[in-house]
Amino acid sequence: MRDTYYKDKVVLVTGSSSGLGFGIAEKFLTKGAKVVFNSANSSKKELQELIDPSLRNNMTYFPADMSVPKEIESLFEKIKSSLGTVDILINNAGIQHLSPIEHFSVEKWDNIIAVNLSASFHTTRLALPGMKEKNYGRIINICSAHALVGSANKSAYVAAKHGLLGLTKVVALENAQTGVTCNAISPGWVLTELVKKQVEELAKTEKLDFESAKKKLLLEKQPSGKFVTIEQVSSLCLFLSGEEAQEIRGSSFSIDGGWTAT
Ligand code: NAD
Repeated sequence: MRDTYYKDKVVLVTGSSSGLGFGIAEKFLTKGAKVVFNSANSSKKELQELIDPSLRNNMTYFPADMSVPKEIESLFEKIKSSLGTVDILINNAGIQHLSPIEHFSVEKWDNIIAVNLSASFHTTRLALPGMKEKNYGRIINICSAHALVGSANKSAYVAAKHGLLGLTKVVALENAQTGVTCNAISPGWVLTELVKKQVEELAKTEKLDFESAKKKLLLEKQPSGKFVTIEQVSSLCLFLSGEEAQEIRGSSFSIDGGWTAT
């Protein structure tokens, strides 16, 4: 790939104040792209301090609550007026809540569907006109093994991620004769804040220490017994954003230590 491929590309990574989103956004910075970091409530200064000083010039941060369509619209207006239209969109923001369905809080259901699914509809509809005009664009939806299989106590998350994979296919098909592609990455367990909370819950209910709960959680689902790393997911993101990936359309890439191989 050309060394200059990412120069002047505008990348938006939703939910990039921590975990996978932060790692993906940082990866694009190392390639020379102009990267917009986002979360509902961080500060630019706070995030900048986590980034190598040599990369800070190309970093922008705009807060926007991805569960609120009006805030997503205003995020796109801010990006357009400061950097231009979005070339590479990574729909990453996500939240989790565990409960059997009959006790699942209605508010939590609505919020998970809004952040993990509807937000990607809004970002996609807002990004597409600019992408089509340039006849270039990459949309990558961070799905999950839970876009392909279910797990107990995760009704909203599993429904949202299955929905997001469906949305990926439709966006890919609607744009199949353009330079805009849309694909999904479906990770298994990655040890981020979202998963640490689940390890803590497991440790509490099963009366285990954190390390034993981590092992139990991993081995119940992930045959490799190893966590997927943020580096592995961000490298796949970079590949799907590249020139070589032009004809990869509507695909789902599992990166899950064998979770969904059975
Ligand atoms: P994380 O909790 O570290 O990061 C989630 C990010 O989303 C944070 O930056 C947070 O600020 C942001 N966010 C949450 N609500 C938001 C809102 N309303 N508006 C804007 N931003 C918001 O978790 P993570 O594990 O890095 O998760 C990132 C994505 O990866 C999620 O979509 C998650 O479903 C997916 N995923 C994670 C795993 C895993 O094992 N960690 C596995 C499969 C998929």
